[in-house]
Amino acid sequence: MESTNATTLSIFHSYLKIIKKNGLCVNCLISPVLPKAHKQTRVIGYAFAEKNAFIWLPPNPKGEAIRMYDLIIVGAGPGGYTAGIYAARFKLNTLLIGKVRGGELSNAHLVENWPGDESINGYDLMVRMYEHAKKTGVEIKEETVTCIKKTPEGFVVESETGTQEAKAAILATGTEKRKLNVPGEKEFLGKGVSYCASCDGAFFKDKVVSVVGGSDAAATEALLLANICKKVYILYRKAEIRAEPITKERVAKTENIEIIPNVNVKEIKGDKMVTGVLLDNGQEVEMSAVFIEIGGTPVSVFCKGLGLELNDKGEIAVNEKSETNVPGVYAAGDVTDGPYKQAITAAAQGAKAAVFAFSYIKKGGK
Ligand SMILES: Cc1cc2nc3c(=O)[nH]c(=O)nc-3n(C[C@H](O)[C@H](O)[C@H](O)COP(=O)(O)OP(=O)(O)OC[C@H]3O[C@@H](n4cnc5c(N)ncnc54)[C@H](O)[C@@H]3O)c2cc1C
Repeated sequence: MESTNATTLSIFHSYLKIIKKNGLCVNCLISPVLPKAHKQTRVIGYAFAEKNAFIWLPPNPKGEAIRMYDLIIVGAGPGGYTAGIYAARFKLNTLLIGKVRGGELSNAHLVENWPGDESINGYDLMVRMYEHAKKTGVEIKEETVTCIKKTPEGFVVESETGTQEAKAAILATGTEKRKLNVPGEKEFLGKGVSYCASCDGAFFKDKVVSVVGGSDAAATEALLLANICKKVYILYRKAEIRAEPITKERVAKTENIEIIPNVNVKEIKGDKMVTGVLLDNGQEVEMSAVFIEIGGTPVSVFCKGLGLELNDKGEIAVNEKSETNVPGVYAAGDVTDGPYKQAITAAAQGAKAAVFAFSYIKKGGK
């Protein structure tokens, strides 16, 4: 093993010299040079030259051959699982890599707009999707993808436990919770500042709390907290919250929810724990917890090297077939530039992505 690594390294360095000598630079792909040039029987690693820096993707830690899948899906939310279920029915050899089982929806205490389930806990719904995907034969790894790159054969995907290849890829990585970026937010994280009411709400039983945000998700979080807490403020920067009419109606009917409109949180105050917030109208409101629900930032940093077209919000641009601008790469769900961010739209995009990835693979990557 050691001598293989030493050989690999010395081969790699000699290639780096050749690349530098020939002045190759930005996004110049040199993979997979090693096995071909040295008559290896299996891929032992990948090297990329990018912006004058060289990235080395090592072989799997156990020294196993890097496996070639038809399709790799990144993301374990409604978009990823649906893509997996469709891909399996097309008999694609599929690997799904997702960090958090179930994604965002597993934080929703109640989902009432998923057809066939009048009212279901988000976690329960996502466990069912996970089990469905698994039963269809999708291989699932629960870990983080750190890098994805184009190769002449398809794509190489680096994750925590190794490297794998695929002919096509579907990105369904959703969003990361957006931060308020105000004093006190970082300091009191876990001490009254939270980004998930269903996870942390129970710690504030019979206390006064707030939800920052005016989306349907924010209003739903407020309704959940109203069952547990003495009082819930909704702090929103506009005159009227933008939740769905049915959610708005429920908020209006809930006596212990009060909306404070046209305000921004300027500071979260506290000593050991949160004690209140300072608003930009000068008002100070006492409370024990602040639940921040102001949307998310699309997660696409790990695929920077692919040259994906993003919009000004950092969302991946897709067409009606869920194709990105990079042939063989598809995207689905909240990470895309689609206008409506819901489980059902993520699932629909995931299904389309799998269908068109199948026809791309069938045509030999065209
Ligand atoms: C509180 C709340 C309530 C909601 N209620 C509803 C509702 O009632 N109905 C509804 O339709 N929608 C609801 N939504 C919205 C819904 O959750 C999202 O629209 C939906 O989950 C988007 O699915 P997705 O597959 O695009 O992404 P996500 O569900 O966000 O999943 C993304 C997946 O990608 C993984 N991932 C990210 N980066 C990496 C990486 N580098 N490597 C590996 N894995 C990675 C994550 O771990 C996760 O598994 C709610 C959202 C919230 C926050």
